Amino acid sequence: MFQNILKALMQQILLNTKARVLRGAGRPTTRVQLALGVALGGRDFVVMAGPCAIEEPRQIATAAETVAAAGCPVLRGGAFKPRTSPYSFQGLGDPGVRLLAETAARHGLASVSEIMDAGDLPAFEGISMLQVGARNMQNFSLLKALAKCGRPVLLKRGFAATVEEWLLAAEYLLDGGNEQVVLCERGIRTFETATRNTLDLSAVVLAKERTHLPVIVDPSHASGRRELVIPLSLAAAACGADGLLVEVHPQPQEALCDGAQALPPEGLFDLMRKLRGILTAVGRELWQPLPQKKAIAL
Ligand code: PEP
Ligand code: MN
Repeated sequence: MFQNILKALMQQILLNTKARVLRGAGRPTTRVQLALGVALGGRDFVVMAGPCAIEEPRQIATAAETVAAAGCPVLRGGAFKPRTSPYSFQGLGDPGVRLLAETAARHGLASVSEIMDAGDLPAFEGISMLQVGARNMQNFSLLKALAKCGRPVLLKRGFAATVEEWLLAAEYLLDGGNEQVVLCERGIRTFETATRNTLDLSAVVLAKERTHLPVIVDPSHASGRRELVIPLSLAAAACGADGLLVEVHPQPQEALCDGAQALPPEGLFDLMRKLRGILTAVGRELWQPLPQKKAIAL
């Protein structure tokens, strides 16, 4: 009993003093660079959008056109899908990742996609940021491998993980030598069934306060319902998040995965319009491409 208390106390002291994720006095937010002119953790609020899963060339190309036209710098899309049922669409695998990288490049976008197995790393060449999904937040061998690869990692919070467990998972990446880490709150499992998960905005504020890492919000998996995506996104921007990961599909009703939470193209345009006012109020700015920034600075 006494030993357990001592152990827990030691762990707490270690986390509060030694952990590399923690902010430390006056340390600014770490900037995670995804591409030229695209970084998380600065003044810019970065919206990453795209379908849950890459389905076929036309679908991802149309999604990319929407994402670029809306002024978002990053295209999302899953090729390795962690589906609850083995009978659900599992994603296109390697060819899907290539399709995402090529499509994103063609539209001048950075890209983010989920990696489930370190053995797949070679397929992710050309992807700007590697996503560790909620189900893999504590897949320590994956985290150790991604720590060594030195590329930007998006670490989603597990749906049953405490903030401390989430930060300790990030610690595996930092302790292994990779500081290019972005935290993503995507909703946790609670007693509530009206939404797919419960968006924990307190965790966003806490993670921003305690760590030096950029923190973003995924309102799509948090709610599971497209009509909640815009209000939750605005709330995320208001409470200090550094960006969003949003599911958008050219035809949500046809989606092979997560159609109920996907915004249609006009939903993304609407979201981007509404974000501006909130961001101005909190002293942030929606990401803009470099030349436009220069024009404003003159
Ligand atoms: C996703 O972003 O496609 C995904 C599967 O999210 P999560 O890991 O948060 O469920
Ligand atoms: Mn999804």
